[in-house]
Amino acid sequence: MNPTRNVYKLQITTFLKALTIILAIIAVIWFLVLSDKNNRTLEIISFDIGQGDAILIKTPENQTMLIDGGPNNKVLQKLGQYLPALTKRIDIVLLTHPHADHVTGLVEVLKRYNVGAVILSGADLKTDVYSEFLKVITEKNIPVVIAEAGEAIHFGSAIAGLEFDILSPEQAGDLVFNKKSEGFGSGGNDVNDTSVVGKLMFKNFSILLTGDATSKIENRLLIYGENLKSDILKVGHHGSKYSSSLLFLKFVSPKAAIIEVGAKNRYGHPSPAALSRLQMVDSEAFRTDLNGDIKILTDGFTTNIFTEK
Ligand SMILES: [Zn+2]
Repeated sequence: MNPTRNVYKLQITTFLKALTIILAIIAVIWFLVLSDKNNRTLEIISFDIGQGDAILIKTPENQTMLIDGGPNNKVLQKLGQYLPALTKRIDIVLLTHPHADHVTGLVEVLKRYNVGAVILSGADLKTDVYSEFLKVITEKNIPVVIAEAGEAIHFGSAIAGLEFDILSPEQAGDLVFNKKSEGFGSGGNDVNDTSVVGKLMFKNFSILLTGDATSKIENRLLIYGENLKSDILKVGHHGSKYSSSLLFLKFVSPKAAIIEVGAKNRYGHPSPAALSRLQMVDSEAFRTDLNGDIKILTDGFTTNIFTEK
């Protein structure tokens, strides 16, 4: 046998082995990429952060929107838990309205994350925490959009049918409040009623998020008629009796209701009245005080809700 030929054969065998290993690695990577592309899941997580709202939305293309930041910095721990490691970007921060139980956690979020844009309700409330929030926006030069009914956010061109429609407030930027001018419940202007109300839709799935809007706004929203119908409702104002009117709930007709509420809060939220109205429309209530973090996963057709507790 020719020894030169043997060496040559050996080299070919080694080359083929190496090629096989490389091809196998490429196949695994390709499979992971493809399976990730097929993983078209929308995630919505209601954080258990005490008496307040903080909801993270992760789109199938990994865009992120944080709706409110809760009454303290617990939101930072939750973001660390639910965003991929080392993530320093949040595409959109939406503040439904400037009350402390929604804005406080967002101050540190804006400082620590690279936020693409901030969406605000038209209300301008004269409080220290909201002033600090606005100051950070200015310092970091973050683009601001004032929400107005009729506007919509479209997420990712490649994904058809993923959009967030803004249903309220009706007019942007014309409401200024100080503590004296703020009224509650049915009388006067209520900062809660400036809440950005939006419907997030993904294929056949929909969730309606109403901030702290009271039944005064819910009544106005009835003009949307059939379009209010949603699979899930983020219940208004932590389950207060002044929100979730029966007529509104009948229009929305949610299969599940998410209540963001702190354990043993001083407001008595959620109210027995609101809970019983949810029962009347056969809506299953999930509560952050009892269930911990509430995670909704949907591919647009099948939806699952997971609770921490
Ligand atoms: Zn609130």
